[in-house]
Formats: sequence, structure tokens, C-alpha cells
Amino acid sequence: QLSEQLLLNYKPEFEQRYLRRLSIIAELKTALDDQQDELSLFYQPKLDLISGKVTKVEALIRWNNAILGFVSPDDFISVAEQAGFIGKITDWVINQAIKDAVTLRDAGMDVSIAINLSAKDVMDNALLPHITSLMSASELDSKALSFEMTESDLVREPEKAIQQLRAFRERGFELAIDDFGTGYSSMSYLKSLPVTTLKVDKSFVLKLDSQQGDQKIVRTVIDLAHSFGLNVVAEGIESQATLQLLQNWGCELAQGYYMCKPLPFADFIQWHNKHQST
Ligand code: C2E
Ligand code: CA
Ligand code: CA
Ligand code: CA
Repeated sequence: QLSEQLLLNYKPEFEQRYLRRLSIIAELKTALDDQQDELSLFYQPKLDLISGKVTKVEALIRWNNAILGFVSPDDFISVAEQAGFIGKITDWVINQAIKDAVTLRDAGMDVSIAINLSAKDVMDNALLPHITSLMSASELDSKALSFEMTESDLVREPEKAIQQLRAFRERGFELAIDDFGTGYSSMSYLKSLPVTTLKVDKSFVLKLDSQQGDQKIVRTVIDLAHSFGLNVVAEGIESQATLQLLQNWGCELAQGYYMCKPLPFADFIQWHNKHQST
């Protein structure tokens, strides 16, 4: 009887989530096909804590749909992964990021754009040749783009993942492990991963200025990264105190609302020009 009651209580919620999932799939597919400007890229700067300059920025997808309204990437990226068309989204992101990278270069701005990749992207043999041919058509150097992916994306097929990432490195792209600390990486796996950067997950950074436990974790990750010869990016910095701690501990790059929220491309250029001149 209890389970019946639970079922009655939860059924509408399940149904709602199921229906929302279906409409996300349907609407997202038309957004990708019709090029109706529903999708856009926002840009969040990464502050170089050594030079004080911004030479790196992360592209974050945004989706505004007539029926569903604004849908967070946390909600639609996983749906697209499960429904098997994340590759279409990644293609869209790469095309847009390359256009924007050309604009940055032509404006004389030395800024590298980081793109988020999903597991399927990393394992897709066609992706790297696709990226390099688009970039050479636009005469972009490999430094114009870099890539971020999570540990959990990589552990499913570790051998293949290492091979794929090595090919990216051979083409000169920087690679970051995103959300570091939340996944399952073992030390020995980390040793064999051909990446340049660890990105400390924001769950350890958001309250860094007041949480002793987070401070221990973040200091340990920074030391670990450095002992492997990797750079560290901290994301989710929301206060001056947190920024200061990270700088003291030798963290190379910092990203967070305290410095700048993700901005539309034109606004990012404005922000960058203002930041770089002060
Ligand atoms: P992520 O790659 O870990 O990106 C960091 C997220 O933290 C972003 O959320 C960013 O807006 C947010 N953030 C940055 N600074 C702060 C801060 O100081 N405080 C707080 N509370 N949050 C901060 P967003 O843009 O909603 O993206 C969520 C996730 O969606 C991303 O997490 C990434 O996993 C995924 N995603 C976003 N764009 C793409 C994309 O183009 N392709 C793929 N495959 N995934 C994407
Ligand atoms: Ca990321
Ligand atoms: Ca992250
Ligand atoms: Ca994430």
C-alpha cells in the first residue's frame, strides 16, 4: 500500500520529466536544423594569475527556446548525449567558436577559446580531422582552440581515450580535465593522461574562503597537478578572498563570477578590452 501511495505521488513528476525530456529532444533538433538563432555561445574569461591578463576564455552554450524558454546546458547536454545527437551540438559549437576565434584574431586579440567536449566526442575518430580542416580553412593556429572534458568521460574506455587525446596533443591543442576531483581518476591513470591542465571543480571552490576542508582539497589538487607538470584552473571563484588564496597557492588560472560571468561574445570583447587596458 505504501508503494502504491509512492507511485501515485511520484507518477506525475515522472511523467512531467519524461514529457520535458521529449520536448527538449524535439525542440533541440529543430533548433540545430533550422538555425533559428536559438543557440548561442557565451564566453567566460580565465584570468592568468601570474600575468594578470586574460588570454583564455571558455565557450559555454546557451539555448533559448520559444516553448521551453531558457534551458540550462546541464539539462539539455545530457539529454542530447543519451538521445545520441550530442555530436550535432558539438559541431554547432565548434563552427561558432571558430567564427568567433577568427573575429578575435582579426581584432588582434590573443585569446584562446576552450570548448567543452562530451565522451562521445572524444571517442569520435572523425572529430579531430573535422576540427583541423575547419581551422586550416580559416588559417587558425592550434593555439586558437583548446578542449575540456571530464574524467568520467574518459574512464569508460581509458585506452582509447588516451589514444584520442594524444592525437589532439600532437596537433598542438591544450587539453584540460574538467570538474577534477568529482570523478574516479586514479593516480596511475592521471599519470598516463596526455593533458596539460587540471580544472578544479567549482564545488570545492565556491566556499573556499570559509571551508577548511575545501582548502585542503584544493591545495592538494594544485600540488598534485604541479608534480605532474600540469597547469591548474580554478572555476567558481565568487570572492576576492578565494581568489587571493588560489593565487597564494600557485594556481595559474582563475575563472568565476567574481571576475566575470559568462557573457555574449560582443560583451566579452568589450569586457576584455576594458580589462586589458587597466
Ligand atoms: P562546466 O564546463 O563545468 O562549466 C562551468 C559552469 O559553472 C558553467 O555553467 C558556468 O557558467 C558556471 N560558473 C562559472 N563561474 C561560476 C561561479 O563563480 N559560480 C557559479 N555558481 N557558477 C559558475 P553553465 O554555463 O550552466 O554550464 C554547465 C555545464 O554544461 C558545463 O559545466 C558543461 O559541463 C556543460 N556545457 C556548457 N556548454 C557546453 C558545450 O558547449 N558543450 C558541452 N558538451 N557541454 C557544455
Ligand atoms: Ca568546462
Ligand atoms: Ca567544470
Ligand atoms: Ca560540468
